[in-house]
Amino acid sequence: MPELRQDPVTLKWVTIAVERAKRPHTFTQAPKVVVKATGECPFCYGHEGETPPEVMAYRDPGTGPNTAGWSVRVVPNLYPAFGPASGDLNPRHVGPYTVMNGLGAHEVLISSPEHYKDLALLPQDQVTLILKSYIDRYLVHRNNPVLKYVLIIVNHGKEAGASREHPHAQLFGIPIVPHTVVEEIEGLQRYKTEKGTCAYCDVLAYEMKVGERIVYENDKFVVFAPYASKVPFETWLMPKSHGAHFEAMSDQEVRACGDALRTGLAKLHYGLNDPPFNFYIHTAPYSGEGNGLYHWHIEILPKLSIWAGFELGSGIMINTALPESAAEFLRKVPLEEPSPAQATAVT
Ligand SMILES: [Zn+2]
Ligand SMILES: [Zn+2]
Ligand SMILES: [Zn+2]
Repeated sequence: MPELRQDPVTLKWVTIAVERAKRPHTFTQAPKVVVKATGECPFCYGHEGETPPEVMAYRDPGTGPNTAGWSVRVVPNLYPAFGPASGDLNPRHVGPYTVMNGLGAHEVLISSPEHYKDLALLPQDQVTLILKSYIDRYLVHRNNPVLKYVLIIVNHGKEAGASREHPHAQLFGIPIVPHTVVEEIEGLQRYKTEKGTCAYCDVLAYEMKVGERIVYENDKFVVFAPYASKVPFETWLMPKSHGAHFEAMSDQEVRACGDALRTGLAKLHYGLNDPPFNFYIHTAPYSGEGNGLYHWHIEILPKLSIWAGFELGSGIMINTALPESAAEFLRKVPLEEPSPAQATAVT
């Protein structure tokens, strides 16, 4: 019998189609033909002049802005979805509608000079540096009165909306708090009023006790398949200690977070042969709304299914993979360092 499962925070239901559920290995992706396009990639060394001028870079000493020699490089998006980052929002009504100017920031955070290595394949030190760059850019925008929220996301693979192969994240500074975050804050508040505790802390304690949905954990972070996973192989990363702000991580926590993120993504990469995915960082809004209450986390959503009429019409996802089976499958994916042959693209 299919099972309806409810998320304890958003109260959203998903259907786990147990009988239609596919065995985890059937989600493995077909081998991809890798097109070697480094010669024309504006995110590769030597092409710095093809992007808007950098707003931040971690560089080798002695190298100048907009030249090679960087390890993480941040540039404004050439075709920004929001911007500029200052001015008048001018909220106004048009008949029954509300409209305002789409002010904001839209940046591209180029993860490393490596065209073919995403977070799953990069060395631990580089992943730590990448997370540090997310925090640095997050903090730069914090004092901008126009911005109510900064969302950092990664699109990986064409099917997940990545228009460039070269690994990068995007930062969206926007003048509103996203519905998804508002919904979580309201859900955490409701749960706290009812039970007196943080729903996500309770989720973590329970998941660590039963263990069947755990993918990986280190001393500070847990990577797990949510009980009410919306999509096959949905994977969350959550700090074990309650904290509202990802940007408040200590250096030690950044390193542990990098280890957990890299491991979670490596398990998807090797287990399912580099599936397309999106991930995003959910942290408390700048305004203090959700401070204390919020429990920040990263949600990784592989793009292995499509939302069809039922999902769009009902908001209820039909998930054809049992989260427990997905987690068990990912737990067993070996974690050796990739060999040079695996980590380098075949051309
Ligand atoms: Zn490139
Ligand atoms: Zn918590
Ligand atoms: Zn979330």
